[in-house]
Amino acid sequence: MPKKTSIGAHVSSSGGLSNAIVNANNIGANSIQIFSGPPQMWLPTKHSQETIDQFVSLREKSDIEEVWIHNIYLANMAADSSEQLEKSINSVIGALKFGEKIKAAGVVLHTGSHKGKGFNKVQRKVINSLKKILSSVPIDIKLALENAAGQGGSIGSDFNELEYIIERVNDERIGICIDTCHAFAAGYDIRKKQVIEDLLTSFEKTITKEKIFVVHANDSLMDLGSHRDRHQNIGEGFIGNRGFKNLLSNNYFKKLCFILEVPGFSLDNTKKNKGPDLENIKRLKKLRP
Ligand SMILES: [Zn+2]
Ligand SMILES: [Zn+2]
Repeated sequence: MPKKTSIGAHVSSSGGLSNAIVNANNIGANSIQIFSGPPQMWLPTKHSQETIDQFVSLREKSDIEEVWIHNIYLANMAADSSEQLEKSINSVIGALKFGEKIKAAGVVLHTGSHKGKGFNKVQRKVINSLKKILSSVPIDIKLALENAAGQGGSIGSDFNELEYIIERVNDERIGICIDTCHAFAAGYDIRKKQVIEDLLTSFEKTITKEKIFVVHANDSLMDLGSHRDRHQNIGEGFIGNRGFKNLLSNNYFKKLCFILEVPGFSLDNTKKNKGPDLENIKRLKKLRP
């Protein structure tokens, strides 16, 4: 593991997997995250062996430290219909297998939603789904459950829920992806060093802090406890520079990689934000001790 926090970004791989590396180099990202397929579609992107080989060799020549894959958004480990649940499970299995091929560190997953039923009603289903996934993929790759902001019955806005799931799935490959914006929106005031320490202490008691595999570094457009998932550029939101500085100075977080999923400062010609850019990377790197 790198001694200094690796600062990375979610990058586009459209037009070819290797473009992810090119895009990362253009913005100075030292780690990357890519989608396993169009995030709002069930269909995974098919990559030829040639494309994969190209990606792996280009990555070896680059400074990229960690590669993460973000699973599609449609997957729900607590889906009501068996058809939806099966599709969800298969999407994660596919992402993990793809991850092994491209030598990724792991897959980040939004656990899903209980759709208002409450976590207690779906916890068994979620645990069984995750067990099924991991037992059908006997490979050495991580699966990181991302904490949620708390919109629409999402599972895991309370870290206790993720701890509960991870303890019971009981597999060394499963852990957590902490999204700073989501944690802040869910009411964790991670601007404060003490809150960060308390969170780590709580993890130590249940699943250990080693279960934090990766961080999504996003400032928050909305205030503490808003339960709204609105990412903002680093230093421009309610978490602010001070919040990120505190997080980056924490000894445990120094070992992790931070992936930006921010809107970015520039607009493309359709007036859409282009996503993580050089400026956000620079800001985060400057905040490292
Ligand atoms: Zn995220
Ligand atoms: Zn988000």
